[in-house]
Amino acid sequence: MTERLLDISGLHTGYDGVAVVRDLELHVDPGEVVALLGPNGAGKTTTLMTISGLVQILEGSVSVMGRPVPKLRQAQRVARWGVTHVPENRGVLFQLTVRENLLLAKTRGRVDLDRAVEFFPALGPLMSRRGGLLSGGEQQMLALGRAIVAEPKLLMVDEMSLGLAPVIYEELMPVVRRIADETGAGVLLVEQHVDLALEVSDRGYVLNHGDLVMSGPAAELLANRALLDASYLGVESLE
Ligand code: ATP
Repeated sequence: MTERLLDISGLHTGYDGVAVVRDLELHVDPGEVVALLGPNGAGKTTTLMTISGLVQILEGSVSVMGRPVPKLRQAQRVARWGVTHVPENRGVLFQLTVRENLLLAKTRGRVDLDRAVEFFPALGPLMSRRGGLLSGGEQQMLALGRAIVAEPKLLMVDEMSLGLAPVIYEELMPVVRRIADETGAGVLLVEQHVDLALEVSDRGYVLNHGDLVMSGPAAELLANRALLDASYLGVESLE
């Protein structure tokens, strides 16, 4: 069997030794978009931060292309393996221009600004504008553009649609699919807009109160809408 891009097994993770995510099994393969869903406080952000090496693994394992993420937080090392994390607050540097934000997104090698513009043409005319002067949608494009120029193998995007108008995130969501299709990166997408996320995803996982309550192909999750809604309420089965 070929090696998984991301492989999570029996993961317990949380804060100050207390698990807020328990016994998680999850994987992502290259070129896949995988949605990580669930209500507020379910543990989605904690899971992404654990993969990035920002939150300590309490039990179980997380590996990226066969390399185990160290139990003690080692975010720089994980980033060097090609894991790029677009956080909920987007991480745009407000005082710097769009161009400077993009140039700083990569620590080694040449930065191909055209690559960001190819996926987000709206960034082209904004290169000299400061990050802090962009609209919310433009900031999210810049955040994703920064991720793209970093040439990730695994791209994690936390709540891309947060604070954006539907017309904006409905446009951005298919671009996430394109990133996976055209670059071969695996994408792990945390999202509150369940239908939109599943429409661009191959598979999905639902967390509730730190437990994995449902998972499967995106089309199956969408087809079992009642069960999916119930999983958000913590109901295990509709029967
Ligand atoms: P949301 O959509 O609200 O961000 P989420 O599914 O991403 O929800 P997390 O942010 O991972 O959930 O939170 C999971 C649990 O961990 C919550 O009970 C939260 O209060 C707790 N938590 C989050 N960050 C910390 C922290 N730094 N220290 C202690 N507990 C935390």
